[in-house]
Amino acid sequence: MKALGFSSGTEEASASDRSSATELRQDTTGRICVEQAIEHLPFCIVVLSGPSGSGKTTIVSRLVRESPVKLVKAISATTRPPREHEVDREDYYFLTPEEFEERKQRGEFLEYAEVHRTGYWYGTLISELERARRANAWVLLEIDVEGALNVMRDYPDALTIFITTPSEEEFERRLRERGTEDEAVIQRRLETARRELEFVERYQYCVINDNLDRAINEIKEILSNKAGELRNHARSTERRSNCQ
Ligand code: ADP
Ligand code: 5GP
Repeated sequence: MKALGFSSGTEEASASDRSSATELRQDTTGRICVEQAIEHLPFCIVVLSGPSGSGKTTIVSRLVRESPVKLVKAISATTRPPREHEVDREDYYFLTPEEFEERKQRGEFLEYAEVHRTGYWYGTLISELERARRANAWVLLEIDVEGALNVMRDYPDALTIFITTPSEEEFERRLRERGTEDEAVIQRRLETARRELEFVERYQYCVINDNLDRAINEIKEILSNKAGELRNHARSTERRSNCQ
């Protein structure tokens, strides 16, 4: 697993950013030990992928408002030119290919990939994880399958969710209805979607975005369960270290 420049996954958070209550307990040998009930939630990387038109953008914008765990959506860097209503540093960090390459060389990316065979590069900056961490939030990455596979390899504690539609015809219908791409781009995205679907089993969860509210509720439950798991893990680690 790659080390990040700050506490991640189930690693311990610093004492200053953890709110804790102290309890005295007896361990199995009868020794008194101090147990701290950790309320601080360990950091987590949440990865969301899925074919174009599956509803990722729609889901992400709802999740950052409604999630049971505070989430910050990482703003990706890209060499793709901005679309009409896109704003630099809000929708993406729009970089020139040279800037992207320089930042890649400096090791500033958590992951990067050339997406949809367009010749455009997309990547997650490590500084975006730091931004989420400072806000005491989890980071949400909305990235393609290639980038997600790299995150899974380097950070196996990441929570990974694949979003899809009930059928291939449905992405096509949604892509066309959205009306942001021309025909050649739609065809390329459909081809990518077919390839991406082959990797669905590599994700921990697959959520079918048939009905938006239902899909959002399913993801909220996945996030709550992960939060519960991380809290339990942090509590048992803390208990063991205090009982030694
Ligand atoms: P992506 O980010 O995965 O490319 P979008 O979020 O842009 O997908 O969604 C593509 C289109 O499908 C948008 O027009 C969006 O409003 C619509 N959409 C999203 N979820 C649903 C759903 N559950 N049912 C019908 N249409 C949906
Ligand atoms: P769009 O050009 O429509 O904004 O995004 C195209 C695709 O790029 C989306 O499917 C999205 O998942 C992917 N993408 C966006 N940001 C990143 C990123 O930081 N890394 C990777 N690997 N893919 C990204």
